[in-house]
Amino acid sequence: MENQYDAVVVGGGIAGCAAAVLLARRGLRVALLERHGNPAHFKKLCTHSIPASATGTLQRLGLAEAIEARGGIRNCNDIFVRWGWIRDPQMDPSPHAGHGYSIRREVLDPLLRQLALDTPNLELLAGHAVTGLIDEQDRICGVVATDSQGASCRFRAKLVVAADGRHSTLAQLCGVPTKRKPHHRFAYFAYYKGLQFPKDNRSKLWFMMPDVAYVFPNDDGQLVAVCAPHKDRLSEWKSDPEGKMFEFFDALPEAPALRQGQRVSPVFGVADLPNILRPAAHRGMALVGDAALAADPIWGVGCGWALQSAEWLADAVAEALLGREPLPAALQRYRKRHRRELAGHEFLISDFATGRPFNFIERLMFSAATRDSGLAHNVALFGGRSIGVLQFLAPGKILRSIWVNLRHWIGKPVVRQPQIS
Ligand SMILES: Cc1cc2nc3c(=O)[nH]c(=O)nc-3n(C[C@H](O)[C@H](O)[C@H](O)COP(=O)(O)OP(=O)(O)OC[C@H]3O[C@@H](n4cnc5c(N)ncnc54)[C@H](O)[C@@H]3O)c2cc1C
Repeated sequence: MENQYDAVVVGGGIAGCAAAVLLARRGLRVALLERHGNPAHFKKLCTHSIPASATGTLQRLGLAEAIEARGGIRNCNDIFVRWGWIRDPQMDPSPHAGHGYSIRREVLDPLLRQLALDTPNLELLAGHAVTGLIDEQDRICGVVATDSQGASCRFRAKLVVAADGRHSTLAQLCGVPTKRKPHHRFAYFAYYKGLQFPKDNRSKLWFMMPDVAYVFPNDDGQLVAVCAPHKDRLSEWKSDPEGKMFEFFDALPEAPALRQGQRVSPVFGVADLPNILRPAAHRGMALVGDAALAADPIWGVGCGWALQSAEWLADAVAEALLGREPLPAALQRYRKRHRRELAGHEFLISDFATGRPFNFIERLMFSAATRDSGLAHNVALFGGRSIGVLQFLAPGKILRSIWVNLRHWIGKPVVRQPQIS
């Protein structure tokens, strides 16, 4: 049996659902193949803090309101570094003030799949695992899948989209060059109820170099607490991860007393999560989400980039799939945009994942940001991935950081850090 579509999207996670919906809304006939048979399944290894950079995409998908209706939290981060707290007074989590969202995947993933099921021109085929590619004249023009009954089916399309996550089967089958960069931290996390949320539902991150911890308030009164220490300490943690998490949080400033809460999940652990980079288009196939770039989760960027890359792809290729321009040029445009938007972030994230200490520029910018609200705002915009590396490190920002720190050292602070507790 062979089926013909404009686009076949493989992987019904965040990136795949978003790409399929946005393409189908352009009037294209789309198949979305997901290996899990249950549309309510969700990704368990994720702490689901969606950065502010993706709020526009969520709004375009019509999901922002649905997330809020299900108790999703408008997020923004307070960051502790050794010089004090970086608190951005402008990142007020009130309406449309540059916030992201925190919502458990248990809620988000089924919402996305329901959106896919409700979208005209889009067929969500749950229980279809892709096992092969249809490759003609060195171009990918379809996939071979096995359904839940074990039957093999072929799907042909003008465009195949790999949205099948960091271990992308499609990338392997297609021979997409893959770069792996090491990650020298491990992570344990768990969900707690019965703990007081931080004021204004702000997320908190502690950079106790080289170890990192964070808490994100979520829907259903659940707080997810995460520790990401350096791998040198893995053997100490393995025997009693929760006991170690308690000890770690006890020593952090303004941290919730985890041991007083009620744990409502297993303690999840991840020992090895290399950063994975692939070109976002290869031999006529597009890659979105983690299939194209899976960066260190401690920065909470992957869900946002899954949504955004899906949007960039749909915008780049829709006209071509409607037959109004050549597809290779459109794919090239998508690949370039993906690189332009994310390469700088990825470079810094992968470098930081080595577990190195803060470098000179980070020390300068972060220390000044604890002392100056404008610079704290700059850090918040960068952390929410709403600005790129060049804007974050603009000469004016560096000069201001030097000036703020000089004034601090001679005992004449420039701007008092606003108090938000
Ligand atoms: C510990 C951890 C914590 C994280 N925390 C955050 C965070 O706080 N904030 C954040 O933004 N990001 C976070 N991330 C990253 C985030 O989870 C990912 O970036 C995001 O899920 C990527 O979405 P995706 O749709 O590209 O891939 P996935 O969510 O991996 O979805 C891939 C889909 O493809 C399907 N699939 C795979 N192979 C096939 C096949 N052969 N055929 C058919 N279907 C297939 C899978 O079943 C799955 O549904 C975290 C990641 C980890 C590991």
